[in-house]
Amino acid sequence: MDSLDGGCACGQLRYRLFSKPMFVHCCHCRDCQRQTGSAFVLNALIETDRVAILSGATEAIQVPTESSRPHVIHRCEACKIAIWSHYGGVRPLSFVRVGTLDEPAALPPNVHIYTRSKLPWVTLPEDVPAFEVYYDSKKLWPAKSLARRKAIFG
Ligand SMILES: [Zn+2]
Ligand SMILES: [Zn+2]
Repeated sequence: MDSLDGGCACGQLRYRLFSKPMFVHCCHCRDCQRQTGSAFVLNALIETDRVAILSGATEAIQVPTESSRPHVIHRCEACKIAIWSHYGGVRPLSFVRVGTLDEPAALPPNVHIYTRSKLPWVTLPEDVPAFEVYYDSKKLWPAKSLARRKAIFG
């Protein structure tokens, strides 16, 4: 079984990922730092139709961004913990917050991005690609993941 379960803090919202994600981002941008109150966010990029809500409900809240690219955060309706996001109005692609999984260690980051605003005391592993800003997914993603991505974007 490749599926992974997760949930919010109050326990009302439970969800399942039906497969491994296409790719996992560790983002050190200022938006992610502000939105999480932490040094970075861990996002698992997966097709929205491979994510199911098992119980509870989400509420969608649009947040302002520095890039002015639309960003909608989906939160547990009850405790308001952020569970996943849609960027740029692309609803078929979900950015699931890895820290909400029951076993977040199952999805280590495949890339570190926006390291230009990485907090100075965060040391990155040498064997994971890291970029000052963004990167070219065609060069970094495995072929299988690129095919899945193509199915979303055409
Ligand atoms: Zn970010
Ligand atoms: Zn909750």
